[in-house]
Amino acid sequence: MVSYLVIAQLYFYVIECYGMNKCVFLDRDGVINKDRVNYAYDLEHFIIIDGVIESLKALKNAGYRLIVVTNQSGIAKGIYTREQMRACHDYLQQACGNIIDHIYYSPCHPSISESLTRKPDSLMLEKGIARFQADIDSSWLIGDKGRDIVPARKMGLKTIQVDGHDDGIATHVAADLKAATSLILAGQ
Ligand SMILES: [Mg+2]
Repeated sequence: MVSYLVIAQLYFYVIECYGMNKCVFLDRDGVINKDRVNYAYDLEHFIIIDGVIESLKALKNAGYRLIVVTNQSGIAKGIYTREQMRACHDYLQQACGNIIDHIYYSPCHPSISESLTRKPDSLMLEKGIARFQADIDSSWLIGDKGRDIVPARKMGLKTIQVDGHDDGIATHVAADLKAATSLILAGQ
């Protein structure tokens, strides 16, 4: 006869495996690294903003999955390669201790290649929400541009617009990722 203890353990195992996750979706340029008109695609110009590493660690420690969603149209335009971008992402992961769960990027630009992955379309977010079983009600997106906020609102996420931008469509506004992290963790 199966004991109640085994049944309880099985129950919690199933909940753990199939439970929903709270997630923070992050735009990259202007949120994690300093934005650059001519694109941040080499390590010389990929400057991680002060407070970002500590903020990512604080969010991770609070149980959030960390998922980056970034437009990288410079690839479609032939300005830089995926390998150069990946070198920046490897550097970022090393700097934060590999705590970013996944980095989605859209290499497209409408002048060359249309794609639903490119924000303000929502396909990158939809993939992340599905793959990481995001609990919408407890998940957030942090971005600096209106085109980050639009798809996140469409998906029902709470949103924080940072870096001095306020298009009036985000649910919250904060100075930077550090301030946004404080805002999220204050609501725990
Ligand atoms: Mg940005």
